[in-house]
Amino acid sequence: MANMDGSTKPLIIWLGTNTCAGDMLSFLNAKDPGYEELISSIAELRFDYLLSASEGSDAINVLDDLQKNHKAAYILVVEGSIPTRSNGLYSVIGYRNGKAWTALQAVRELGAAARYVVAAGTCAAFGGIYAAAPNPSECVSLQAVLDRKVINVPGCPINPEWMMGTLNHLIQYGEPALDDDNRPKLFYGETIHNLCQRRDYFDNSIFAAKPGEPWCMYKIGCKGPVTYADCPVRQWNGEHLSWPVKANTPCIGCASPEFSDGSVPFFEHLPDVKLPGIKVTANRVGQLTGVVTALGIGAHLIGSILTGRFAETLKKDLPRGSKLKLRQRLKKIH
Ligand code: SF4
Repeated sequence: MANMDGSTKPLIIWLGTNTCAGDMLSFLNAKDPGYEELISSIAELRFDYLLSASEGSDAINVLDDLQKNHKAAYILVVEGSIPTRSNGLYSVIGYRNGKAWTALQAVRELGAAARYVVAAGTCAAFGGIYAAAPNPSECVSLQAVLDRKVINVPGCPINPEWMMGTLNHLIQYGEPALDDDNRPKLFYGETIHNLCQRRDYFDNSIFAAKPGEPWCMYKIGCKGPVTYADCPVRQWNGEHLSWPVKANTPCIGCASPEFSDGSVPFFEHLPDVKLPGIKVTANRVGQLTGVVTALGIGAHLIGSILTGRFAETLKKDLPRGSKLKLRQRLKKIH
């Protein structure tokens, strides 16, 4: 179906509000399809706050035209949280009729006329870092200032495929299945913990004592048990090369609604977090793993660990003649 100006591709606006620009920069790493393919053959990116060639009133006129003449025909993507203090003056998109057009006004006006509204990154989806205490500009999520549904694609930054996949799903099939936080289940349907390559270490109480160690990061603050995202299997860096735990540092829960205030201190496990599927508090798990570890110092359990399903992985990771090393390792964990 043709748009009112004769173009036939789906239209996209990518608006930046209070953002570090990390989501758009991450998005540029998308592959199959990549950014170039998206804008050349799949959709028409009419406005991109970072990459559009036009500026000033020319750029604002593009947004005006979309809002007035393409109702329910474009996807509005918003990157960044929305400051509400002083009527939103802490984020100004541009000037219209000589007056500041705030992000708060822009997302409300453009959002009301959009076919779909998508929040790109945790700041837009849940407030994120800009809404962290003390939050002097009173930043909130996009959903908090709109009366309509916002599809949330969180992450700090987004994985490029989470956004590319969501946009393509909207264009080809309509709205994807969403979870209770309006995140596409395609990408956020499972916890990082359940997909993690180090899950065996967790199940067998083998924990890293500091970043850089190749064990489960739970005791040094990993938020994988409470964070829904497919980072362990999708991975990052354009070529699906790595993700935080693979780089020997804990997941900080950046795709969660609680991020970032709810994730700090990053290197301590949260004391009262319910662990999905385990049904006890994190403290209780800590106690349980402590008990198991204490028992594990005994030769009997060391023997049984070494003959269990974890044995092969553990033997691979430990140096030769490692029974003694394992004993020391278990003591260290305890
Ligand atoms: S706590 Fe973190 S590092 Fe350990 S298994 Fe879960 S997600 Fe992986």
